[in-house]
Amino acid sequence: MEEITPPLRMTRQRQIILQELRSVKTHPSADEVYEMVRIRLPHISLGTVYRNLEILSELGEIQKIEITGKLKRFDGNIRPHYHLRCLNCNRIDDVPEHIHFDFDPSLNKATGYAITGHRLEFVGLCPECSEHHSHRLSLKLDKLTQKPKSDFLRSRQDFLTETTSHTIKKSSTEAMVLREEAPPGTL
Ligand SMILES: [Zn+2]
Ligand SMILES: [Zn+2]
Repeated sequence: MEEITPPLRMTRQRQIILQELRSVKTHPSADEVYEMVRIRLPHISLGTVYRNLEILSELGEIQKIEITGKLKRFDGNIRPHYHLRCLNCNRIDDVPEHIHFDFDPSLNKATGYAITGHRLEFVGLCPECSEHHSHRLSLKLDKLTQKPKSDFLRSRQDFLTETTSHTIKKSSTEAMVLREEAPPGTL
């Protein structure tokens, strides 16, 4: 009885790891898989998770994505597909499966390799990081263009005051103050 319990338990653990991994599209690391399965397997060790992930990938049940050195992530989707990786936060997404690139068979001849497949990784900034990035960029640009902006406000103001508006006169003063407060380097 004692002897058959460990392999059975292993199988159950492996199945749960597989189920959890297939339930997400985030391409988690082994540590993240460990956190995910602990809810259902509170006594599982990180080592067991690592071992089972390796076994599952050898069995072809999951994909191991090895990107740039130490970054190792796992994918429950074993259909051939490409990945996108964010250079800032290391998020990994799937390229939609209908997007594919033709492999040129002449490469076999040209290299002498018996090529069995190819991997392609797209890198850049994910939507969140690129939004954050463009926000920071626009703040920078605002600073750099402070003078032209104030001038624009002022000339617009001059034009508007001619058509008489008291409230706009007030905002013109504010624009002037802004301009005066701008650090000398930006003017
Ligand atoms: Zn990102
Ligand atoms: Zn994937």
